[in-house]
Amino acid sequence: MRTGKPNWYLKTICPCCGQGLLLFVVCPICEYLTVKCLEMGDTFANPNKLENWFTETCPTCRIETSSFIPANSDHINKAGFDKSRYE
Ligand SMILES: [Zn+2]
Ligand SMILES: [Zn+2]
Repeated sequence: MRTGKPNWYLKTICPCCGQGLLLFVVCPICEYLTVKCLEMGDTFANPNKLENWFTETCPTCRIETSSFIPANSDHINKAGFDKSRYE
């Protein structure tokens, strides 16, 4: 059994690979919330506009998205996601 905080996923299949789970992640500096494809390891620029594709740096503070951390449900609620849109 894993302990600790659960990870949260967008209830949408990844448009880049058609199979990846989209994990919610946040910037550890500015708490910018987005999603990351677990299959490809790429971070989307905007969780509401997946068609904008990927970014390698945080859109607001410019640190690398490789240092983003899994989001908690508070982050996700604060960003305006309805409970029905993630799991
Ligand atoms: Zn993908
Ligand atoms: Zn940031």
